[in-house]
Amino acid sequence: MPTLEFDPIQHPGLILNREELDAIRIKIDTQAWAKEAFDKLITDADTYVSSNIVIPKQKGQWTHYYACKDDGTRLTTITDTEHKCLTCGKVYTGEVYDRSVITGKHIALGEAAKNLGLAYQLTGDEKYIPPTKQILLDYADIYLSFPLEDKLGKLNTGLAARVFATNLAESCWLVNICWAYDLIAETLTTEERQHICKDMHLRGSHRRQPRLWPTRRWPRPSRQTGHHSLRCGSRTCARSRFHPIRCTLTPRMVQNHALTQYHPRRSTTTSTLHG
Ligand SMILES: [Zn+2]
Repeated sequence: MPTLEFDPIQHPGLILNREELDAIRIKIDTQAWAKEAFDKLITDADTYVSSNIVIPKQKGQWTHYYACKDDGTRLTTITDTEHKCLTCGKVYTGEVYDRSVITGKHIALGEAAKNLGLAYQLTGDEKYIPPTKQILLDYADIYLSFPLEDKLGKLNTGLAARVFATNLAESCWLVNICWAYDLIAETLTTEERQHICKDMHLRGSHRRQPRLWPTRRWPRPSRQTGHHSLRCGSRTCARSRFHPIRCTLTPRMVQNHALTQYHPRRSTTTSTLHG
């Protein structure tokens, strides 16, 4: 039985390492377009520094439900419980619509965590650490309380997810969450790292992937997963060197995760984990 071997990871290093962050800082100082993008990032991050961050306690719903049944117009959110079609004027209410709005809030918080982490790394300003940490820890606190449920309300199916109603959406969101973790990992205690990794990333990123990659013709529909986009979403994580968890988990847990999540480098030597 072959065992798994991982390269050491230095935080930050998941998507951008220190050299790449240095290169970005030089571009910000010398290129107008880079400065413009940086200012936009900082404006977004500052919003979360000065606001009260609240994680929705409800799971998101599939946003394709968020449309008028008569004419297909995307609904406009009037309040959290009122959703209006601007074409025919019909107002929709109900959990399916309310939870679609919540999907947007979860997505925004994932984006915010990533932007806050980037703001910290690019400026060195420690004011960006607490809100990033809060988003990660607050999600870790409640992650497993979300039912593993799909958009049809069925539990434990191949399409089911925790925070979202599809695991494609969850995969994309987890890329931001994992990146945010990587960007502030050096400021987290061992206990905080373990809480985030064990109570969110490992189980949260679990996909029902019965086969190892690579597949010969990818992407393609899978009888086991039902939809090729699951592979795409999961692969997004894998391709982005998604694996902050490997620094804190046991070899067995990492191996279980790796076997269901992505195709790791295989080796006949003993597993080596680094943090
Ligand atoms: Zn309508």
